[in-house]
Amino acid sequence: MVLLWVAIRLTALVAAAYGLFLAAHAFIRWLPRERPSIPAEPTPVERPTGMAVDPVCQMPLLARPETRHLKHEGRTYYFCSSSCAERFSRAPHRYAKRDPGAGFPR
Ligand SMILES: [Zn+2]
Repeated sequence: MVLLWVAIRLTALVAAAYGLFLAAHAFIRWLPRERPSIPAEPTPVERPTGMAVDPVCQMPLLARPETRHLKHEGRTYYFCSSSCAERFSRAPHRYAKRDPGAGFPR
């Protein structure tokens, strides 16, 4: 009787594995149809445009016309606060050279 029990258990196990395989197969078949509706990366509209880095405190911020900024050697540098802008204006070379990626060539 033990053998019969083992056989039943094995059959159940195989059936469960087969069911799992069918579910996985159905899931894989379902995936490529669903994928195109999900954007791989954020749309350009949602992506923040004109991001700049405060050269003094290294804080990322939006480079808008109303954002506090200073021009130095043809580049515009954006600041989070007036204190950062003041520190930059006192020694612009010190901060401008620290991060060559900061500022925009506008
Ligand atoms: Zn700052």
